[in-house]
Order: sequence, then C-alpha cells, then structure tokens
Amino acid sequence: MYYPLTVRDFLDRAAHAYPDRVAVVDEPEQPGPSLGEPTYRQLAALARAQAAALDRLDVPVGGRVAVVSQNSARLLTSFFGVSGWGRVLVPVNFRLTGPEIEYIVRHSGASVVYADPSRAEVLDTLDVKHKFVLGDDEDLFLHGTEPREWAEPDEGATASVNYTSGTTARPKGVQLTHRNLWLNSAVFGLHTTISDRDVYLHTLPMFHANGWGMPYGITGVGGRHIVLRQIDGAEILRRVERHGVTLMCAAPAVLNAVLDAAADWQGEIPGRDRVRIVCAGAPPPTRTIERVTAELGWEFIQIYGLTETSPLVTVNRGRAEWDGLEPAERARRLGRAGVPALGVRVDVDVDGEVLTASNHNLDGYWEQPEETAKAQAGGWFHTGDGGYLDDEGYLVISDRKKDVIISGGENVSSIEVEDVITSHPAVREVAVIGIPDAKWGELVTALVVTDGSGVTAEELTAHCRTRLAGFKTPKRIDFVESLPRTATGKLQKFKLREPFRRD
Ligand code: AMP
Repeated sequence: MYYPLTVRDFLDRAAHAYPDRVAVVDEPEQPGPSLGEPTYRQLAALARAQAAALDRLDVPVGGRVAVVSQNSARLLTSFFGVSGWGRVLVPVNFRLTGPEIEYIVRHSGASVVYADPSRAEVLDTLDVKHKFVLGDDEDLFLHGTEPREWAEPDEGATASVNYTSGTTARPKGVQLTHRNLWLNSAVFGLHTTISDRDVYLHTLPMFHANGWGMPYGITGVGGRHIVLRQIDGAEILRRVERHGVTLMCAAPAVLNAVLDAAADWQGEIPGRDRVRIVCAGAPPPTRTIERVTAELGWEFIQIYGLTETSPLVTVNRGRAEWDGLEPAERARRLGRAGVPALGVRVDVDVDGEVLTASNHNLDGYWEQPEETAKAQAGGWFHTGDGGYLDDEGYLVISDRKKDVIISGGENVSSIEVEDVITSHPAVREVAVIGIPDAKWGELVTALVVTDGSGVTAEELTAHCRTRLAGFKTPKRIDFVESLPRTATGKLQKFKLREPFRRD
C-alpha cells in the first residue's frame, strides 16, 4: 500500500495520541498577545482554523504564504496550518531589511504575508493581496470553521520554500517537498533519539531550514515545544531550569552565549546529564565542544547540512567506542561533521567539493531551473563546501569552496586555522581570510576578537606555530571589536575581505 508522507502526519498523530498534553509554551513576553500553552488538541484546532482562514482568502493548493516572524507558537502553527492543507509556507528571516523581504515575497509570489508586530512596517511597502499582523488572530485563525480537505495529498508537493541566508548573492528559494521534510525530521529524530519525554527549547530560528525539522519531529512524538523569541545565554539557562528542557539545536555562536552565561551562573548548571544540544550551521571550535561537556555537562551532537538538504547530511554523536577517551580527544572526534545519516550518501569530488544524495535533497530552486540543474548535476547535490572523508569515514568540512585560501600555492583551510586560534584561552572569536598579496598570492590573515586580557599578535602567532604548518600560520593578525554574522550564525567573510580588495 502506498500512503503519501505529508507534514500533517506529525500533528495528526500528536492530536490523536496526546490531545491533552501541553504542545507548546509560547513566549510569554512578546509585542502581541501570547498564545499561552495550547495542548495538542488546541494546536490542531488552531492549524485547522488557519487553513480555514486561507480557504476564505481563496488561497489555492500550492499557493504561497509567507510568515515574517521571530519564533512563536503562531509560526509553529503555520508549519501545519499552511503546509498541512497543501499550501506552501515561506518562512522569512525576520532580521532582513524591508527591500530584502520585498524581494523574497515578490520572488516567491506569495499572496498572503503575515508579519510579527515588531516588523509590521514591512507590510506597508509590499504589493501583496493579503497582509496581516500576527496576533491579530481574527485574520489568522477562522475559529469554529473546518477547512476544506486537501483533495489529493501529495508527498512530492512543495511544502515550504526557504530562502538561503545569502552570505554572498541574492538568496535563492529552496523548494522542499513533504517527502523531504518528513524523512529529514524522522531521520533526525532517530539519530537524536527524540521521544514524548523530550522538552525542546527553540534556540534555533524556526525560519532557518524549518528549525532543521524539529517543529515536525517533536510534534510527531508528542514532545513539548518551548518557544524562545530572542537569544540570551542566561535566559536559555533559566528556561532549561524552569521547563526541564532536554533538547535544543543551535549554531556555535549560541553555544558560546550559553557558556558565557554559565560562567556567571549561581549554583548548579541546569540540565546537567540531561540536555543534548545539536550544533550546526558553522564549524564549532573544538574548545567550545570540550567546554560544553566540561562546564555544562550537556551532550554535544554535531550535524552538518544545508537548507538545500532539509538539512540533515551527516551526524556526529559520541559512540560507545569513545566512552573511555580523554575529554580533549572526544572533543576532537566530535569536531568532525560526522558520518552520513541514515539514507544519505556522501562523496567528495576530485576538486574536494562535498556531494550528497538523499531523499532530503531539495526538489529545486524556486523558478531557477538552471541553478537547479547546476546544483544537482550528475545526480548529486553540490554543496559548495570543501572537505574530505577521514580514515574512519567521518566527513571533515575544511571550508566553503569560495573561502579557501591559496597562499604560496598551498591550500589553507580557514576552518582549521580558526580552530587552532580559538583554542587560545584569550580568544573569543576569530575569522581567518585570505587577502591579496604580491608575494604570497593570498596572505593568511586572522581577525580576532579577544576577551580584553591584552593578548598580543606575537603570542597568538607563537601559539599557532606549535600547532600548524608554517604556511598555515597567519602572517597578519588584526584585533577587531566584533565579526559580522548572518542571523543564522555564519561569518560573512565577503564583508571582511571587502576593505582589503584590490581592484
Ligand atoms: P544554510 O543553508 O544556511 O543552513 O547553510 C549551510 C552551510 O552552513 C553549509 O554549506 C556549511 O557551509 C555550513 N555548515 C552547516 N553545518 C556545518 C557544520 N557542522 N560544520 C561546518 N559548516 C557547517
């Protein structure tokens, strides 16, 4: 028998098996009214009411509905209320500027846009049929009305279009199907062993690759969602304590915020031996991994992937064989991107580019068939990341392809150099870039944010010399106040290279 996989399955199951459990604890403090703590029965009713509201607006199956919002229970509802009845959710990064949002809305052809009250102003300039402020629930939810059923549920239909973070050019719309999202969530849940006992804190923006799939997975197993609207290390620790959080996903920058807050925390760190934290989006420094285990007592899990791969490609979770290892060695092993997740194939081509094939791979870039063909050439998705498979079969990411530094004819992995510099205790953050140089072609250059303790460039160079080959050791070290990152925690190296460009 064939039965299509659709994202509705996750909510239907929770409403059937756990109707009276609290599904989600909405952010109590937000510019609009909080939805409080709806049960799964209530969450399912909200999703139906949203689908009914979209019926009333005549949004057809396949019609795009954009939501510009911080994490919220309303955005969580939309993952089901929009996609569950055959429409296409376009979750938009709330930190983008008005013109960037306008581009995404126009490019996706959305006929409905919802915006968080804090971004209500973007609605003014949008040329869209239906515009609403979230929290004005008369418009979002048509309570008491049942939606029209999705006549022909199709797992090959697009469930969401997610615009990439755009570290360089215009963002592209990544078209993910119900089948992509279903399998990504199920496989991600399998590797992170989620269950109905999990309390999941949304430290990851839901708009980013659909919160990597946990909005579906945690719902499907009847776990509890805790909404977090804004990242703040101390607040994360408070919520872990208050709600008995067991699981979260985050970029390395969020881990650092938690570690900083933990240093000032009074009493025992909450969640010791209970919380598992899944990290991706940028390479986590080995020292950060070691500190998560030593200072928080949380389990560190790394995954690697892209919006285009839903995103799960590889997973690295401490395995039984490593139980007796020294913390530093465990951290080193966990610092690799990981081994392929179930059902995922990974390869590296002759140029060192990471390739992947799986049921999580995107259907295409929205209305960009040429880009789609290029990215999926030869039946593999071309990630744009450079890397290699080590002798244990673990994938190691060495760089974004365009960030590789070529100095004196040698390839230098900026990630490797960054990891070594971050292992110096006085370093908070670092970006390593190549800047044009007559002698070397590119000069390995480190831009460093320190803890203010007055560490010198000479000391950092000496630290690198003992751990890195000479050609990898930065020839120039500049101290900076901060480093530009995208909302999803990625260093924007093109911005850092800008002042050094020679035209
Ligand atoms: P996005 O599509 O915004 O999720 O960005 C995907 C990109 O993030 C990948 O192509 C990598 O460059 C980077 N990335 C994600 N996970 C990892 C990881 N575990 N280690 C290193 N880079 C990562």
